[in-house]
Amino acid sequence: MGMNRRQFMSAVAACPVCVAAVGGARAEGPHWSYEHADHWGEESAFKVCGIGDQQSPVDLVGAVHAQIDAPTIAWPSGDFEIVNNGHTIQVNLPPGGTVTSQGKTYDLKQFHFHTPSEHARDGKRTAMEVHFVHLNDKGSAAVIGAFLEAGGVNSVFSTVMAAAPKAEGKAKLGTSIDPAALLPKDRQFYRYEGSLTTPPCAEVVEWNVLAAPVAVAQADIDAFKAIFPMNARPLQPMNRRFLLSN
Ligand SMILES: [Zn+2]
Repeated sequence: MGMNRRQFMSAVAACPVCVAAVGGARAEGPHWSYEHADHWGEESAFKVCGIGDQQSPVDLVGAVHAQIDAPTIAWPSGDFEIVNNGHTIQVNLPPGGTVTSQGKTYDLKQFHFHTPSEHARDGKRTAMEVHFVHLNDKGSAAVIGAFLEAGGVNSVFSTVMAAAPKAEGKAKLGTSIDPAALLPKDRQFYRYEGSLTTPPCAEVVEWNVLAAPVAVAQADIDAFKAIFPMNARPLQPMNRRFLLSN
């Protein structure tokens, strides 16, 4: 059904620099836009976006309490490459960063942003959401998501928005950042099995979405919206999946 893991991995291998198709990275293949998000599945390469039954994002409601451990993060600090890929602002990481979850270790490839948040809590979306995208050599992905809300200043997000290219292209951040400073201190989180939220919507993602929002500057949210006014996929049905929380 749709893109299987092998096809997904060959798509990634075909574009190793941008990690094709992961998290909105610019890649070879059909054009797509958020204005037509309900029609992504009509493109043959994106069929799973329409017929998949484990799609993301979802409304985080009705979670089952469970004894689950938060993912263990080991991310590097540094002055990283920042890209406007036409769909989002993305920071690309060199090899070395990992996350370990449920006994599996994945490599951190990039993090990027959406407005409004893609996931919702009890039907409500926040101003923005950040996604940290990790892959392993089996073709699986682990994404850590966090909600961003106006009401403070986050120096990492301020650095990212100060360096963000306003048109498609690449730049350097120009200063070292610690990506983990974009996560809330509270580690309550939701976990479920889902998909990439951009075409090809491959159903290969272990989602871990932190419950507590991170306070960022309204000016930095406005700076993002000036480049991308809306880059969030509509909510998808949970179908027969479990939503867990710790
Ligand atoms: Zn994303």
